[in-house]
Amino acid sequence: MTLTLGVYYLTPFIRWDRGPNAPDQAVLIDLESAKAYWFWIEIWPQEVYLLTGILILAAVVLFFVTSLFGRVWCGYLCPQTVWTDLFVWVERIVQGDRNARKKLHEARWSFDKVRKIATTHFIWLVIAWCTAGSFVLYFNDAPTLFWSFFTFDVSPTILTFIGGLTFSTYLMAGFAREQVCTYMCPYARFQSAMFDCDTLIIGYDEQRGEARGKHKKGESWDDRGHCIDCTACVQVCPMGIDIRDGLQMECIACGLCVDACNNVMDKIDLKRGLIRYDTVNHMEAEQQGRKESFKFLQSRTIYYAAILAVVAVAMFAAVIGRTSLELHVLHDRNPLFVQLSSGEIRNGYIIKILNKTHDHRTFRLSLEGLDDVQIEVKAAGSVSADSLYVVADSIGTYHIFVSSNMAPDSPRDITFTLTDQGSDMTDTYDAVFISKRGR
Ligand code: SF4
Ligand code: SF4
Repeated sequence: MTLTLGVYYLTPFIRWDRGPNAPDQAVLIDLESAKAYWFWIEIWPQEVYLLTGILILAAVVLFFVTSLFGRVWCGYLCPQTVWTDLFVWVERIVQGDRNARKKLHEARWSFDKVRKIATTHFIWLVIAWCTAGSFVLYFNDAPTLFWSFFTFDVSPTILTFIGGLTFSTYLMAGFAREQVCTYMCPYARFQSAMFDCDTLIIGYDEQRGEARGKHKKGESWDDRGHCIDCTACVQVCPMGIDIRDGLQMECIACGLCVDACNNVMDKIDLKRGLIRYDTVNHMEAEQQGRKESFKFLQSRTIYYAAILAVVAVAMFAAVIGRTSLELHVLHDRNPLFVQLSSGEIRNGYIIKILNKTHDHRTFRLSLEGLDDVQIEVKAAGSVSADSLYVVADSIGTYHIFVSSNMAPDSPRDITFTLTDQGSDMTDTYDAVFISKRGR
């Protein structure tokens, strides 16, 4: 919980130097410029396929890990679990353990009862507000926004977002809790498809535990099981299930019942592990007195690992092969061409230059595939095809006219080449020149 909360709350404050014309926040979703930044990776709207790849990669990692280790995501990393645990921890600190809380809720209203319940809800609201506030930091420059909270200089839009997220966090972690896992989360429904008898699960050793029953100090353990039916494992379960009934869909593999039962075993001087992380096959082998090691290498895990490797390599190649210059050309739709009084044929194009570097750049546009050609830029001032200026980290849009008095009588394939005058970096785009008898 400390690790996951620490990562969530502190990540927006990590700085990453990208040069003078780019944000220095390591993880940022900049809605204004429609770009996402993740350390050294920058994702432009045109590269949304990278986001798709990241989501596919995350899904395959989840499947792979689930097939090996069961629902570790649910038990240790899912935000719903982490914030619910945090809220339960606050409740326990303020109101006491389960029995004390039960007693408090059944007691008549008194100053002490109001004080404890009001304190719990106040702390929950503060945590929910901090959670919501941290979320919006991922979409803004974190230090600037953080200080503006203290100077009351926050925009109404941001405050509205924070209000909504505060309410949903308070509701989900304070009240809905495990109901979200049981009734709302789709993952809980299909995760069993990734389980088999060699998946690590939380299991109750029935052979060792049964027949269960109360046990007095000094009594013999002969002809009975090691479970003393203290229900500690049931009381700590956030999902309200009894793991002794076998693996159930509700179990999020949080391991709280393992700790609770181990504590009980310590107290009664028995070996730990009546409830433990184990596989069904391994547990059965132990019960039959066979030595069997864990079999993590299953065909299913090999498939997942292979898919994972393919997606990871594709993502790596996409990130490595990412260029910092892109040219896109769009032919004018109307008119497709005009014939000038001089007899020349002229086509219009919209060109978009994606300057993904953090420096202002000047580009030169040239064309191949047509003879005796002139490129004219429709822009205020003295902009020519040799001096197309695009500021850092942005898209430059120009309307150009290409004319030729040696135009063919049919559409001609042409290639635009854009060259960065500073670095000689180039990009090309294939287009069509349409003339008299063309399309
Ligand atoms: S905590 Fe252990 S001993 Fe107590 S009821 Fe659960 S399984 Fe039995
Ligand atoms: S049965 Fe155990 S591991 Fe599963 S949710 Fe309950 S306490 Fe957590």
